Amino acid sequence: MVQVYRLRAEEHRTRQRELLRLAHLPSATLDGHQVRLAANIDLPHELPSAHEAGAEGIGLFRSEFIFIRSSPRLPDEEEQLDTYSQLLDSFPDHAVTVRTFDLGGKKLARELLGSPETNPVLGLRGVRLCLQKPDFFRVQIRALLRAAARGPERLRVMVPLVSSVEEIRTVRVLFERLRAELVAEGHAVPKRVVLGAMIEVPAAALIADHLAREVDFFSVGTNDLTQYTLAVDRANEQVSGLYRPFHPALLRLLDRIISSGRRAGIPVSLCGEMAGDPLAVPVLVGLGLEEFSMHPQALPVVRNLVRALSYREARRIAQRALTLPTAKAVEEYLLEQLSGLLSHLKVRIRP
Ligand code: PEP
Ligand code: MG
Repeated sequence: MVQVYRLRAEEHRTRQRELLRLAHLPSATLDGHQVRLAANIDLPHELPSAHEAGAEGIGLFRSEFIFIRSSPRLPDEEEQLDTYSQLLDSFPDHAVTVRTFDLGGKKLARELLGSPETNPVLGLRGVRLCLQKPDFFRVQIRALLRAAARGPERLRVMVPLVSSVEEIRTVRVLFERLRAELVAEGHAVPKRVVLGAMIEVPAAALIADHLAREVDFFSVGTNDLTQYTLAVDRANEQVSGLYRPFHPALLRLLDRIISSGRRAGIPVSLCGEMAGDPLAVPVLVGLGLEEFSMHPQALPVVRNLVRALSYREARRIAQRALTLPTAKAVEEYLLEQLSGLLSHLKVRIRP
């Protein structure tokens, strides 16, 4: 038995090595449709693994982890500037997306809010918390603006848990105000900051056309979007069977978000776990998603899948998936399509 496991582990390592060897090949479909494959990281020490996996930049830096690391002390402006600069310097030719603090909910809620909430996941988290605690948000915005001076338009700032146009407008006003303050202090700051909204609340997905006029990009957080659309706590094992990212309701929302972004001419990325799920790749490419951001480990497999797909075929798969009535039917259909692709992939890994 031990022998069998050793053999399996060796096979897995060989396969991983083979995939990493292909890590720097273009992420384009057989018929030349290009997508961008970026990495999700929580702290800068993960940068080398993102490079090794061939990430085209950072699609999600969960900045709250620098807060969690230094808790209960607030990371000061210089410390934050240093972290954001490290990210930008590490990817000089690509965009780096920093998500503003997504705290509250289940992350450090008690430390920040003092009093516990009865329903924290529907409470003061993400952008809501930042707007209620502007002194604490202010330090982050100043550090982001100063870091953005390292490369115009390379730093993308995205705001979590947006549910209304007003929230984005308020965040923009804060950025403008703090920009003026930094200029008055003699700091070099770019004229404009690239500002995006995370789409992870159903309300934001339903008003994606309005939001698209207010921001420079969207990034879909399917982990929370699934939780809030299906009313299923993503961390509650008792209902984990109901947590289905391939539920037809989610596919419809994704279609709506991506089309709204395309119509407004802004890029749409997806940074939830779904981006690294092989089953999701054909349908997401087919819906027109331009950027996938995932854990570095998932990148090589997704790159190979993209390269084995044709955009035409992916569009057909997506259109068919959108007609199916249940999560099970969607999953079975996608599995069947993926099996076809995988048998194909064995002989089609392009040098
Ligand atoms: C998401 O909700 O999909 C997401 C990427 O954010 P997080 O998992 O950090 O909530
Ligand atoms: Mg989220």
